Amino acid sequence: MITKMKGTYDVTDDIGYLQTIEKKMLTVSKLFQYKEIRTPHFEATELFHRGVGETTDIVNKETYTFTDRGNRQNTLRPEGTAGVVRAYIENKLHADPVTPQKYFYQGSMFRYERPQKGRFREFRQFGAEAFGASSPEIDAEIIAYAVTFLRALKLNDVTVHLNSLGGKDSKTAYHSALNAHLKDDIAALCQDCQTRFQDNPLRILDCKVDAKHPLVNSAPKPIAYLTDEDRTHFERVQAALKAMQISYTVDENLVRGLDYYTHTVFEIKVSEALLGRQNAICGGGRYNHLVETLGGPPTPASGFAFGIERLIVAMKAANITPEPDRLHVFFIALGDQAKLATLAMMQRFRLGGITCNTDFLDKNIKGQFKQSEHQHARFVMVIGDAEIAEKTLEIKDQHTGETVKASLSKAYDTVVKLLTKGDVCEDCDHQKGAA
Ligand code: AMP
Repeated sequence: MITKMKGTYDVTDDIGYLQTIEKKMLTVSKLFQYKEIRTPHFEATELFHRGVGETTDIVNKETYTFTDRGNRQNTLRPEGTAGVVRAYIENKLHADPVTPQKYFYQGSMFRYERPQKGRFREFRQFGAEAFGASSPEIDAEIIAYAVTFLRALKLNDVTVHLNSLGGKDSKTAYHSALNAHLKDDIAALCQDCQTRFQDNPLRILDCKVDAKHPLVNSAPKPIAYLTDEDRTHFERVQAALKAMQISYTVDENLVRGLDYYTHTVFEIKVSEALLGRQNAICGGGRYNHLVETLGGPPTPASGFAFGIERLIVAMKAANITPEPDRLHVFFIALGDQAKLATLAMMQRFRLGGITCNTDFLDKNIKGQFKQSEHQHARFVMVIGDAEIAEKTLEIKDQHTGETVKASLSKAYDTVVKLLTKGDVCEDCDHQKGAA
């Protein structure tokens, strides 16, 4: 038997979670006016080297890179931002008069990581990017968008961790302070941190191995090196969040793993009780130079990315169940003529928005009733020679046990009426009396 590759998974029972997440993602993106963008799953390897950073673990250790038959270097996307920025530049989306240009994406990302709970080699992200605005308010809007999405999923037990790295001047001042702090004792840290010290010392604050090392704990914090202008930016982000009643905590150690962040950085974590230590479900921030680095016009930008698998784990831990996939009617057809009549009725019902199913395996009546139970049908209708001759049938409500008689031509209206006893159908969007 050929089995799935390490670090991948099939979506079977969890499909309801994925569909609920996708539905809320579409609704909330519309509310915030972000348009969907779809970019390829593989790009030129160079894009990620320049876009994500030569010195990041993602690019150095985790990419799936291959040479194709035309001798080109391809990489499966390990994250979404670089591809969206490439598409933004290549399609001249910066010329769109609607500003800022706001996009969201979703889909698989690929990283050659050690698989563990909540960590895969093919995983899914939902991300958003707003291009062309340097205002602190758009940083706050991006955070509000992420939090609203979580609320729509009923995941309320979350904390927004917020920090600011500042712009170029602040970052340069901070880098020298950090260098001075680390340089004499750097040998005490892990091998990776020693390499990071050469390439990008900021990332030492992010190290999982040395997270609690006294040298790391006593390191200066980026916030202390913000220029006045950058401090004001950070204060305005916070004022905007307060105005929207989005709670947050300032986390001075938060730096995020990627080179390109400037100013605002944030992570959203669910409680450790729900997700354990891998409890960051969303990360993001401002990146003011990436579009230019990748060959576009100078364009400030801000974005986030959610890990969808971790969202599903968090939803399960919080006892949030996906909206059930309801079957309104199961038709039991007895005989060839009844089968044709059933197919005709099912087509009519389906066009009218009623979900239905029937038997396709020539089961006897007992077997068909069993199927209706397996499929949790709300109504069961039996159609045989007698029903066709009399042009009437019985609609059995499996919730109440009641049976209603209806003519074949009125069966659809009757089902809609039964489903919409109140104002709005409890199972679907049928309005009272709609037929
Ligand atoms: P990053 O692009 O590394 O900032 O990750 C953004 C989010 O994607 C994280 O908060 C995780 O929820 C999720 N994520 C990152 N890597 C993986 C992985 N290998 N498997 C599952 N989810 C991941």
